[in-house]
Amino acid sequence: MESTQSRQHNFIIVGGGAAGRLLAARLSLVPDWAVMLLEAGGEVNFLQDIPSHATRLQSTAADRVYRTGKVEIILPWDDV
Ligand SMILES: Cc1cc2nc3c(=O)[nH]c(=O)nc-3n(C[C@H](O)[C@H](O)[C@H](O)COP(=O)(O)OP(=O)(O)OC[C@H]3O[C@@H](n4cnc5c(N)ncnc54)[C@H](O)[C@@H]3O)c2cc1C
Repeated sequence: MESTQSRQHNFIIVGGGAAGRLLAARLSLVPDWAVMLLEAGGEVNFLQDIPSHATRLQSTAADRVYRTGKVEIILPWDDV
């Protein structure tokens, strides 16, 4: 198997979550394209499968402590 360090890639996707995995799978369907998917996560905590326990994951290894910035939301009916 060829080393990924010596290969050229057409796409490098950071994050193998829901969106990243789907994007990588779709792009990989094109035979000529080489896709690298980088995932930083480790073992999945069983609490990550239970939506109501999401807040219990704060400050654990599953929490990346990302913060959102200010977002301006424009709703379709704001213009009318
Ligand atoms: C407890 C819980 C239960 C949920 N249940 C449902 C459900 O039943 N149905 C549903 O539709 N939605 C559910 N959701 C919401 C759903 O999980 C998210 O909307 C969805 O995962 C978002 O997809 P994403 O690809 O944007 O992010 P994620 O799926 O979070 O993927 C981001 C990925 O990027 C990786 N990453 C982050 N930083 C780096 C880095 N620097 N380098 C490399 N990799 C990195 C992370 O490890 C992660 O794997 C749930 C959410 C939670 C928290």
